[in-house]
Amino acid sequence: MPDHPDMSPPGTLWIVATPIGNLDDLSPRAADTLGRVAVVAAEDTRTSRRLFGDRQAPEMVSLHEHNEAVACARLVERLGQGADVALVSDAGTPLVSDPGYRLVAAAHDAGIAVRTVPGPCAAIAALSVAGLPSDRFWFEGFLPARAGQRQSRLEALAHMPATMIFYAPARDLPVIVADMSITLGPDRMATLARELTKIHETVHRAPVADLAQWIADDANQQRGEAVLVVAGNPDPAPAVNPEALARELARELPPSRAAKLLARLTGMNRKEAWAKVERGE
Ligand code: SAM
Repeated sequence: MPDHPDMSPPGTLWIVATPIGNLDDLSPRAADTLGRVAVVAAEDTRTSRRLFGDRQAPEMVSLHEHNEAVACARLVERLGQGADVALVSDAGTPLVSDPGYRLVAAAHDAGIAVRTVPGPCAAIAALSVAGLPSDRFWFEGFLPARAGQRQSRLEALAHMPATMIFYAPARDLPVIVADMSITLGPDRMATLARELTKIHETVHRAPVADLAQWIADDANQQRGEAVLVVAGNPDPAPAVNPEALARELARELPPSRAAKLLARLTGMNRKEAWAKVERGE
């Protein structure tokens, strides 16, 4: 094994982070790696070509969500033949809410060396300016676009003790932050980190209800790209006693509905839930 990571064997897969806005954030090592590899696998080859400026770009191959399986097989073949390949995404760190996991897994399976060239990542950049506990954090990424699914997901996160990080297009902030105010509570502290490293970079920290109002009052806050960093909940979820819950549900609802809800809320199977509801336990 070479003593310096950049002296990797031929046929190495390099996972290269690129800027999230400001092109000066491309590290010298990232630029050097992109200049040395035979192939760059990119989500959008036109976007990634900009990283080369006036320099000659190497062969560019597109790798996105919809062609990942086929592109992956071809790239592993090239790697096996000794070609160095760099994986980049449109912005930031590949695999963080971006494609690449299958390629990295396939490379490991094929015994190919995988090396990192770390750098910008919107989630970590936002966490670093959020002013919220950062000893533990939960990366949630994008919430579902549909209102019902989004609210259910937020309800499931209501007792998460760690600081949470969400990705969102800024145009969706009004509905997302309004949902957070209902599901997580209006006083939960949150930080909006928008357009990081760009001209209109904004970092604003406030209780969720105030943040919702602040965003609603200023249409500019609904433009560009955003990360929401939200404080965790120090109170653990209340322990639910399944027997007491079965009794309450059976008292209020028809048995089939009560059993269905009991199963959903506790994770027990339907048959078991039916038995508890019928016994009125
Ligand atoms: N791989 C990227 C990374 O390392 O951050 C994330 C890619 S994900 C498809 C795009 C999302 O990242 C955006 O919708 C936004 O939530 C967040 N994002 C990317 N660039 C950002 C920026 N400059 N400021 C704020 N959020 C950004």
